[in-house]
Amino acid sequence: MRKSIRIGLILSLLFIGTELVRGWGFFAHQRINRLAAFTLPEEMLGFYKEHIVFLTEHAVDPDARRYAVKGEACRHYIDLDIYGDSAIYTMPHKWEDAKALYTEDTLKEYGIVPWHIETMRKRLVYAFRSKNPYKILKVSAEIGHYIADSNVPLHTTENYNGQMTNQKGIHGFWESRLPELFAEDYDFFVDKAEYVNDPVERAWANVKTAHLAMDSVLFLERELNAKTSPDKKYSFEERNKQTVKVYSKEYSAKYHKLMKGMVERQMRASIKMVADFWYTCWVDAGQPNLDEIKNYEFDEELKKQIKEERNFWKNRTVKSREHN
Ligand SMILES: [Zn+2]
Repeated sequence: MRKSIRIGLILSLLFIGTELVRGWGFFAHQRINRLAAFTLPEEMLGFYKEHIVFLTEHAVDPDARRYAVKGEACRHYIDLDIYGDSAIYTMPHKWEDAKALYTEDTLKEYGIVPWHIETMRKRLVYAFRSKNPYKILKVSAEIGHYIADSNVPLHTTENYNGQMTNQKGIHGFWESRLPELFAEDYDFFVDKAEYVNDPVERAWANVKTAHLAMDSVLFLERELNAKTSPDKKYSFEERNKQTVKVYSKEYSAKYHKLMKGMVERQMRASIKMVADFWYTCWVDAGQPNLDEIKNYEFDEELKKQIKEERNFWKNRTVKSREHN
């Protein structure tokens, strides 16, 4: 009797634990957008700095509406291995070509992150052209999210949570737990934002780097797990007044060491790419004068609308897979 209650409790704790850790994790997404802003040129810096709170808070919107908005889920990943072992070399980079080869339904089923970055890029150019401050900020925050996701190795595989190799939980472990524990020691200094000549190819280049790192992410954890007793692998921590089961600090440190700086590298690559894309969109829009809209304030109506939208996301769930 007691034992079954205990097991039930542990299972519910584990559930809470995995629920809390999703996406790069709130912490990493917010940090990436924030740091990207500070690499922008003078002409953009004032506006982005003025609205840094919005840019960081809304970095996680795409995950917040992940379960509420149909069609949102597939924008965060691409299961490249579905298309064969060498898909990273053979997948057409242009949406129209990929669609002709695999159909839109199939592409959406297995994720569209590199193509969605291109959609968002066009939206951001348009927002800059219209000089609409709210749209610039909203699309900037959200393209930052998708770019960051595309740099996460486990966002490029069907085995996104280690569910096919008995490593369930590794998704949150790699992209949330590790940055939360170790990002304080990372060097986030990246070069100034640079113009991207071919954004489609740049998106694919970053996806490729992430995808090629994916085998190590899975393999090295499997090896470490084989050498570790279960009571050393997990521990319990207090989060929001709840006890959650987490990968222990000791286990996390060992895994982090095996990654040889990969989490840091991928976070830096995210920051650089976000900044480069923001800058490129601004240039392509004809370098609008952002100082003229720098002191823009959200009116009450818009604030209300944003709040209502967030509540809607929270309270609605459409059927979709867990991958984010
Ligand atoms: Zn995401």
